[in-house]
Amino acid sequence: MKPKTLQEAIKFFSDEMNCINTVASLRWPDGKPTCPSCEKQDHYWLATQKRWKCKECWKQFSVKVNTIFEDSPLPLSKWLAALWMVANCKNGISSYEVARDLGITQKSAWFMLHRIRLAMQKGSFVKLGGSGSEVEVDETFIGGKARNMHLSEKTRRITSTGPKGKQPVWAALERGGEVVCEVVPTNRKKHIHPAIKKHVAPESALYSDALLTYQGIGSEYAHQVIDHAVAYVNGRVHTNGLENFWSLLKRSIGGTYVSVEQFHLFRYLDEQSFRFNNRGARKNPIHDGQRFEKVLAQVSGKRVTYADLTGKDATPF
Ligand SMILES: [Zn+2]
Repeated sequence: MKPKTLQEAIKFFSDEMNCINTVASLRWPDGKPTCPSCEKQDHYWLATQKRWKCKECWKQFSVKVNTIFEDSPLPLSKWLAALWMVANCKNGISSYEVARDLGITQKSAWFMLHRIRLAMQKGSFVKLGGSGSEVEVDETFIGGKARNMHLSEKTRRITSTGPKGKQPVWAALERGGEVVCEVVPTNRKKHIHPAIKKHVAPESALYSDALLTYQGIGSEYAHQVIDHAVAYVNGRVHTNGLENFWSLLKRSIGGTYVSVEQFHLFRYLDEQSFRFNNRGARKNPIHDGQRFEKVLAQVSGKRVTYADLTGKDATPF
């Protein structure tokens, strides 16, 4: 029985073979583990080492190879429990909570969470919208609260690009579809227009507020504006879907994470976008186990080292 709740998940994944079988079945859906060295699917199972040995090149490999779990001494039981929590906690989960819940150090939990966010990155670059679709576009600012920081921290965290050193973030939401969200250098035309062209298919109906930024986007979109100085909704023309996304994002960043450095902001955007895009609906319910499997299916081929994350050449474990 596959787990459906956090409690069931923790119990189920306390058994290492359950972890290995779960990861293997999502990595290799055809049921045949593939040798990372020679790509052959013929091997022995070494029960004591819990690894496969390739019959072609005689190399051994574990289920962690070429995944976000590789090189980590933390057992899969802890990885999968953490992954479950990140995939399913609506407002995000901090490294402090994960450390406490799993009995690991905060530093290890922090590193784990960043690797899990990497798995949550959108794998495809299919554009939103298209003919007959409605796409909301909007931008917001994240961060600030600089008054409470020490000066050295201020200069490290903030490379002033928006009001009071806040970071502009832009998003597009297809009604009834997905959101894409990314950090932009400024909220000016020269940065917003390319983002729209990159992520939104031509012929979409494009809804934005009346900011100058969106003027002149071009005839490839049916662009309509809602002037927020006048009203928030005019028939179908509104950006309320994105307003909802922004409030979830800000609750997650402001409430759960003690501080987000600008350098890492895109990872939090990926995490929140993933949960938003997999939130389910009355017609299309998604349970926690399915969201978990969706992240887990994306763990391979993605690695990020501690040095990539921090610029420091050390490992946290
Ligand atoms: Zn091989």
